[in-house]
Amino acid sequence: MTIAQSLLSLQSTDQSLAIRRREYREVQTELDSEGGLPKLRESCDSTRVRVLEAKVNMARLESDLAMLKDEVAELETRLYGGAITNVRQLTAIETEHSSVRRNLAQVEEAISPAQVAAEHAGQQFADLTADLEAKEKAWKTRQVELRSEKIEKGTAFNEMLQIRNDEAAQIPDDHLARYTRLFRSNRGIAIVRVDRGVCQGCAVRLPVGELTRLRAADGPIPCSCGRALLTEH
Ligand SMILES: [Zn+2]
Repeated sequence: MTIAQSLLSLQSTDQSLAIRRREYREVQTELDSEGGLPKLRESCDSTRVRVLEAKVNMARLESDLAMLKDEVAELETRLYGGAITNVRQLTAIETEHSSVRRNLAQVEEAISPAQVAAEHAGQQFADLTADLEAKEKAWKTRQVELRSEKIEKGTAFNEMLQIRNDEAAQIPDDHLARYTRLFRSNRGIAIVRVDRGVCQGCAVRLPVGELTRLRAADGPIPCSCGRALLTEH
């Protein structure tokens, strides 16, 4: 095999290797995402807190309601019981009575929206919990698949890497170094063919002198575009 042929072969191995690396990383990325479960658990948790808060709020309103009703009843007993005949006292009780009644009306008004909010949060929590449960189950299956896929892809990558290293070991250091630098900087294309005097990388026709130089060289030579090494093989 000529140096050019060896480099072309190495390039195709390196391209396959890049695909395998990408496939492996994709599996790893999906594994790391945990099927979106962390985010779902988080919103489940925050909804549960909201449910608790809504319940606490409801309980507070209900206790206020009971207390205010008692107060109203007690004030009404005093107002209409006939035991108090002093006008000033009666006026004071009347003022207190209407103030407590106002508070009671406010609490009664707040109870219905609070109840709606509590029910809404409760429903949301139930939906999220069901969703989470289903997704956790699905993820368990997917995770098993992904783990075996990861081993598979990892093995395939390592095998290809071994082939790559064996191939690279056959190539003279200076050619290999030049190739490696270009392969990295040029998105996986270091060697391009010259077809009927035209660089297939940049589509530029080579000057006759370059062609002569290429044919006399022991391996690929740099194209004037600087992006690739040329070979006629
Ligand atoms: Zn070129």
